Amino acid sequence: MADLTPRAEVFECFDSGELKGRGLRAIKALTPGDKVLESIPLVYVLCNSVRGLCCDFCFAKSEDLQRCSKCKFARYCNRECQKSAWKDHKTECQLTLNISPNIPTDLVRLMARITQQEQTAKPSTSSVRSVYSSLVSHHDKFNDQRKEAFSAILVALKLFTGEGDLHKYSDDQLFVLFGKISCNSFTICDAELQPLGVGIYKIPSLLNHSCVPNCVTVFSGTKLLVHATEKIKQGDELTISYTELLCPSYQRKEDLESRYSFDCHCLKCFSPLEEDGLMLSLQCSDFQCNGALPRDLAGGGFADCNTCGKQISNEAMVTKAEAIISKSGEALKEIKELEKTDDYRSILDLAKNILEEQKDIFHKLHYSRISILDKAMDACINLEFWDRALAFGLQTMDGYKLYYPRNHPSVGIQLFRIGKLQVYLDKLKDGFQSLLQAEAILKVTHGNHPLVQELRAMIGQTLEELREEQNRTVQGMELI
Ligand SMILES: [Zn+2]
Ligand SMILES: [Zn+2]
Ligand SMILES: [Zn+2]
Ligand SMILES: [Zn+2]
Repeated sequence: MADLTPRAEVFECFDSGELKGRGLRAIKALTPGDKVLESIPLVYVLCNSVRGLCCDFCFAKSEDLQRCSKCKFARYCNRECQKSAWKDHKTECQLTLNISPNIPTDLVRLMARITQQEQTAKPSTSSVRSVYSSLVSHHDKFNDQRKEAFSAILVALKLFTGEGDLHKYSDDQLFVLFGKISCNSFTICDAELQPLGVGIYKIPSLLNHSCVPNCVTVFSGTKLLVHATEKIKQGDELTISYTELLCPSYQRKEDLESRYSFDCHCLKCFSPLEEDGLMLSLQCSDFQCNGALPRDLAGGGFADCNTCGKQISNEAMVTKAEAIISKSGEALKEIKELEKTDDYRSILDLAKNILEEQKDIFHKLHYSRISILDKAMDACINLEFWDRALAFGLQTMDGYKLYYPRNHPSVGIQLFRIGKLQVYLDKLKDGFQSLLQAEAILKVTHGNHPLVQELRAMIGQTLEELREEQNRTVQGMELI
């Protein structure tokens, strides 16, 4: 069975009401860092964007991957991984060869693998089929855009699989399957939260969404781990976030609606005005002040400065701010495109221009400013501009800590990255503090993950270096 430990002693499945369907709830009290479950995927594929960098089977990064000698498409660490992958790759291998030099998209491969699994599952062990049939689909709520996306995928899927086993499925059945994948698949990420693949997991697919979640999912290879990030009482529903939390509620709602076809009614979405206002706030025009003029989403315009009470100085600033927000949105989209080709030089130029335009207008807690700073930091790390990467990274931290839940992997990873940069740049004391803060979060979100072991080793090493530095100073003082 796919779930390693169904840990019946931790949670149970329950009916969480008409709106949300089935969910999981705690059957005992949990504290932050408690492991809720771990699960291996029923089906998964490596993203084409990282093909050649990671093993198709175990997702380990390697510079010495071996190609499948037949299709030359799949790549593996070694014979072991290739052998283990063969059951799922066998049919796909021939299909890939048939359409070469074209390559199937990630979603097409995932759908082909599922239909393949369903067809080959023996009736006596029909667990795979019953699991897929139990997943929710919400295909009846899909908008025209989703339906169009499906039509394109259907054409590509039929091209890829040829006649094959697909003739046993009607287009309607494939549409339902597409809905199931949309609602239930997880993006499998590496330790730095970069996407590597996509997979479907049996028990974790029952976890419902909240923008104030009490659990989190992280991955070790293709294995999914769920840890509690808050204190959870017996009987409380276990929730994770399906969406990015560093954005205003209307954006989260839009994303949840288009990807999962539901409207979030969590506490944060119920009264979002204050946080949204700050996420869209302008900088106080008194430069001594540092205060924010929160966007007044109920009344329109902007509220008075939350620090000195000063009102917005002129309407031209509002118009300018509107223009920059839409420009920033465009820039973020453009950066995401540039990321596909690793063009970090252009990303940095674009980010710098937008940050310059936002300067003195957007408050430092404006979510768009934080997102762009983050991209600038990423680009600098890739270009090995360590000083500038650190400067950008440090500016993101106030927003990260304010908008993400306190035990969120993004905050832990960001602190880890900042700590590494500080240590590398010989700012040992600052680095040590950042690494300790990272550890406090990542031990909760990741448990005993290799990432946490790597972090602890770095903390130990930095402590050593700090002691040596101190000794040198003391010896120096004695000489004087
Ligand atoms: Zn491998
Ligand atoms: Zn192959
Ligand atoms: Zn919500
Ligand atoms: Zn002010």
